[in-house]
Amino acid sequence: MHGYCCRSGRGAILGANRVWRRGSSEDMVLDTTTLRIAFALMALVLVFLFYFSAYRVTRSPYSGWWCLALIFFLTGSACFLLDGTSHQVWANPLGNVLLVHGGVAVWAGARSLRTVAPPKWAFTGIPLVVLVASVLDNPATNTWSGGPVFLAAMSVSIGLASRELWRLEPGYSRVRIPMAVSAGGLAGFYFFRWVAFMLEGQHGSTFTTVFGSAVTTLVTMVLLVVVSFSMAALSSEQQTRALRVVASRDDLTGLLNRKAFLDLAAELLSDRAITRGSGALILADLDHFKAVNDTYGHAAGDTALQRFAGACTETVRSTDLVGRYGGEEFVLLLPGASAERAELITKEISRRLAAAPGVDGMQMPTVSYGISIYDADTSRVDDVIAAADAALYTAKSLGRNRAARSDRML
Ligand code: GH3
Ligand code: MG
Ligand code: MG
Repeated sequence: MHGYCCRSGRGAILGANRVWRRGSSEDMVLDTTTLRIAFALMALVLVFLFYFSAYRVTRSPYSGWWCLALIFFLTGSACFLLDGTSHQVWANPLGNVLLVHGGVAVWAGARSLRTVAPPKWAFTGIPLVVLVASVLDNPATNTWSGGPVFLAAMSVSIGLASRELWRLEPGYSRVRIPMAVSAGGLAGFYFFRWVAFMLEGQHGSTFTTVFGSAVTTLVTMVLLVVVSFSMAALSSEQQTRALRVVASRDDLTGLLNRKAFLDLAAELLSDRAITRGSGALILADLDHFKAVNDTYGHAAGDTALQRFAGACTETVRSTDLVGRYGGEEFVLLLPGASAERAELITKEISRRLAAAPGVDGMQMPTVSYGISIYDADTSRVDDVIAAADAALYTAKSLGRNRAARSDRML
């Protein structure tokens, strides 16, 4: 997850140290420099892959934050390459600040999953404290300038990211737990680094071995892959969800399309706990709609269809189903409703439609409705719709602008 691992903490002795590690590589000692180069390359590749495959396509805030975090980790780590040179005096504090910005960006990304904006103070306050601590801690000679503050800031920002992920609802994504555990693990790792630093200082044996550069690089390398993979999975999950919504909606009215309505209605009818046994289905057909098109134009006709859809959704409960059955025909499923209640609903819909603003003096059309009732024994949506269709035919033949009930009990 994070390049901030790549800080040497050894400064002027880095060269000698590197030679020693190289020399003993036959004894299976992991070479920190090689690991760091591999880490940097991997992070760079991930930035590109992530930018082009996730962020450019989805524009989702969390993938943007993750890209930004990767860039902060890369540039921050790069600053530490200047340790031991005359540039260390500015590069070392800058590296700290960039890496901490990366940690805050991870937190902001986790927050964006709950569509909560990151707090502004996190981007200014936390890095500022780290900057001041580093500048005051002999950055020209000390490669761990502001070390304790830096380690604490990393642990806190990544820990806050983990907390955000745990707070998401369990069904949010398959990758919620792996990401929360990764972030929590890394926050813990930084916490123990901080404890080791506080207890024994930067040259202490635990701090340089258990929490040394090679181990930290390896840990963060693995986490970088886990989080990038999870983020990519999250992007595709969200896209699939968005596509499913688009595929189930009617373009013009935003109501469920015919197929989505039928699927959901079948699901509802098969789940007796939701339907409470019985309910009503209404089939609605706008009266003389062809004449509306002929008189006011097709665009005005479209507006009338949209107004009717609006009147329906404003009238029914959010748990009822409203669909465009085709052309100027609509269908509503009202679980638990009686025929009387369904009739009241049709009156209210017609009243709302008549009151809706038209275009260029257009008179809104009236509507005919067919109502059918189903009970606990009904299992086929088609039968319920056929009964409502027969009732609709009756309403039309009785002179339109009215509702008729099916005499068939289903
Ligand atoms: P009735 O009272 O018997 O239902 O008469 P009607 O004119 O409403 O019925 P008919 O089936 O003859 O005509 C339906 C019209 O609905 C014809 C068609 O052009 C129009 N229509 C269907 N879909 C759309 C649409 O998406 N937009 C518009 N503007 N018109 C549509
Ligand atoms: Mg029709
Ligand atoms: Mg019609």
